[in-house]
Amino acid sequence: MNSKITPALQVRGLAKHFGGVRALDGVDFEVFAGQCVALIGPNGAGKSTCFACLAGQQVPTAGEVLWHGQSLLGKPPAERQRLGVARTFQVAQTFEALTVLQNIQLVLRDGPPLGWWDRLDQRQPERAWQLAVQAGLEAHVHATVAELPYGAKKRLELAMALAGLPQSVAVDGAPSAPSLLLLDEPAAGLALAERVDMMTLVRQVAGQGVTVLYTEHNMDAVFGVADRVLVLMQGHRVADGLPEAVAQDPQVRERYLGNDFDMKGLLDAQR
Ligand code: ADP
Ligand code: MG
Repeated sequence: MNSKITPALQVRGLAKHFGGVRALDGVDFEVFAGQCVALIGPNGAGKSTCFACLAGQQVPTAGEVLWHGQSLLGKPPAERQRLGVARTFQVAQTFEALTVLQNIQLVLRDGPPLGWWDRLDQRQPERAWQLAVQAGLEAHVHATVAELPYGAKKRLELAMALAGLPQSVAVDGAPSAPSLLLLDEPAAGLALAERVDMMTLVRQVAGQGVTVLYTEHNMDAVFGVADRVLVLMQGHRVADGLPEAVAQDPQVRERYLGNDFDMKGLLDAQR
């Protein structure tokens, strides 16, 4: 299969109903390998539900999800992770009493399984360090999560998602296994400076060949960052395209961005 023409991720007719609530109501989209795509839309649009269907926390009511041509539906989250699909959550999921390094070591894949007799600290320390450094956490490796500033905690969560993937990024920076990282509001609650650091990290991960799909409410973390923008509203895809095209979409402006939204002004302010 030629990965240059075949999308890495294909989502077809994806639906998830919670009783009468149609969180997703037949959504189609595709993501190509190495793309960095922002999934935006108002609260309740179905973004988190979409991630849950892709990563396996929720079973869709209908539809299909193909990852490199293989159906992910029916596979538990751990199996999807083995196939290269990992996610973070809207609220950071870390172990407060453990250190940054130990959190990463706990979820590292590709090592020997952790037996009760093993010391967590001895588990692939170099690889764990490498991930911590990549996430800009070198100053915090031995701090417990409870001591971390919130921005560092969110970056740790991203490092943990990468740690759980099959060695997605080899030492020389070339991807060795296809991987999809789903980031649910990676910059939520972060001040502008921390948000810039986080989105720089997200871009860097995508630059290493990891396919990234992320949700976000801060438009400075969408425009100027994502290669493509997908807009979801009330369980429907209402726009999908290059950031500059989506920024001009009358329906998206009317219903979400606001008619005074100025992408160029936003990008200029970021410089
Ligand atoms: P978003 O992440 O875009 O804010 P969500 O995917 O969290 O949206 O939610 C979409 C809709 O589905 C909302 O109306 C929400 O209340 C509903 N919903 C999400 N998860 C559940 C659930 N587990 N049970 C019932 N309703 C849910
Ligand atoms: Mg959400």
